[in-house]
Amino acid sequence: MNLHPSSVLFVAGVAVYVGIRAHFRQIARAQKTSVRRSSRRDMSLVMLVGLCQVVLPLIFVFSPWLDRLNYGLPGAANVAGVIPLLGGLWLFWRSHTDLGRSWSVTLELRESHRLVTEGVYRLIRHPMYASFFLLALEQALLLGNWLAGWSALAAVLLLYVVRVPAEEAMMLSFFGAEYQSYMRRTGGIIPRLWRMHGA
Ligand code: SAH
Repeated sequence: MNLHPSSVLFVAGVAVYVGIRAHFRQIARAQKTSVRRSSRRDMSLVMLVGLCQVVLPLIFVFSPWLDRLNYGLPGAANVAGVIPLLGGLWLFWRSHTDLGRSWSVTLELRESHRLVTEGVYRLIRHPMYASFFLLALEQALLLGNWLAGWSALAAVLLLYVVRVPAEEAMMLSFFGAEYQSYMRRTGGIIPRLWRMHGA
C-alpha cells in the first residue's frame, strides 16, 4: 500500500477522469458511425494507455506488488504535480465538451460528422492528447514508482506518434481542403499563435 497524500490526490484525479469518460461514452454510444478506421493496433494502444493511466497506478497505491520499483519524490514535485493535474483534467473535459457527438474512443467518423474548429480546437488539433500528456506528467510528479509513475508518459507518446498520422489522414480524406486549412492555422498540441489569423 502506498497511501500517501500525493497518491490519494492522484486517485481522486483518476476518479474524475473516469467519470468524465463514462459520461461521454454514454453520448458516443447513441451515435451512428459512417467511417470506421479502428484497427487491432489502435485498440491495443487505447488499452495500453488505460493500463498505464489507471491500472498500474491503482496497483501501486493499493497493493505491495510494485514496491520494489519505489523511490522517494521530493515534496516540491508533489506540489508541482497539482498544476498539470488540474490543467489536464480541465483540458480533458473541455475537449470532450467541444467535440461533443464527434468524439469516439477509436478512429471513427459519425454520420453527419462536423469538423470542430472552435473552443480549445481553435488553438490545437489534439487537445485531448495534450491533456493525456499533462496527466502523464502529473502522474510522474505524484507517484514515486518507476513503472506506475512513468509508464503513462511512454504510452501516451506512443499513442501520439502512431495515431496522429492515421487520424489526420482520415480527417483529410473526409474533410479535404477544410482540414488542410485547419492544419495550417493550428498546432498539434502546442498552439501556433502567430498563424491563427493567417491562411
Ligand atoms: N485528436 C483529437 C480527438 C481525439 S478523439 C484530440 O486530441 O482532441 C478521436 C476522434 O475525434 C477521431 O476518431 C475523429 O473522428 C474525431 N476528431 C478529431 N479531431 C476532430 C475535429 N477537429 N473535429 C471533429 N472531430 C474530430
